[in-house]
Order: sequence, then structure tokens, then C-alpha cells
Amino acid sequence: MRPAHASATSPADLVREFHLAFGLDARSTPAEVSPELAAHRGELLAEEAAEVAEVAVTGPLDRLAHELADVVYVAYGTALVHGIDLDAVIAEIHRANMTKLGPDGLVARRADGKVLKGDHYRAPDVAAVLRRQGWDTGER
Ligand SMILES: [Mg+2]
Repeated sequence: MRPAHASATSPADLVREFHLAFGLDARSTPAEVSPELAAHRGELLAEEAAEVAEVAVTGPLDRLAHELADVVYVAYGTALVHGIDLDAVIAEIHRANMTKLGPDGLVARRADGKVLKGDHYRAPDVAAVLRRQGWDTGER
């Protein structure tokens, strides 16, 4: 845990600062939240994603940058509301994506250019990441 006076730098830190300053939900352990809150967060994210789609082709570039940042900000906020350490989840997604690279360093591609999952691919285990964060699935 960072001291309160330390300046925030990562998206997770910045968004936590925002949620605490404005009295928004913030949890430290992964948990389901009320359907109303979950739906509200989903709507916020859908709005921002729609704003990205609006400017993705026509720009201008500063609008695109702004809306992309809004998506990330709201996504981190939604993770925080659910008590998810999103940085750890992103690291797991990245780990899995990097296993698409063969041991020879070569990328297997389909004729249309899509990166294929080779023999060394290991899918992300997001549930395991959440369990390490204290997610109680009720399984014994
Ligand atoms: Mg926006």
C-alpha cells in the first residue's frame, strides 16, 4: 500500500484517488456487487466505448486519445468497484498472449495475417488471478 501523500502514477492509482475523493465505491477484494451498480458500470463503459467508435476513423486524433483514455479510466474504475486488481489481470493476459510466440521466436500466422495460437500457447487463467486476490467463489 502506497503512503497517502505519494503521488499517484499508474492508472490504478489515479482512478483509486478519484473514487476516494468523490465517495465512489472502491473494494480491495474481488466480489460481486449489486446488479444496479454492476449495470451502471457497464453502461458507463459502453458509453465511452461508443465514443471511441465515433471518432476512431474520423478523429481528430486528440478526441481519439481522449476517448481511449476515458475507456481505460472507466475500466479501471469498474475493476476497483469490483475489487479487482486489474494490473494483475492484464499481466496474465499479456503472459498468455506472449505464448503465441513459438520457442523459435516465430509467429504462426493464418493466410489472412491473424496470429495463430501455437502448441506453446497457454490460455490466461483469470479465475486463478482473482483467487490469489482473495476471490471467494464458494468452492471448498
Ligand atoms: Mg468520453
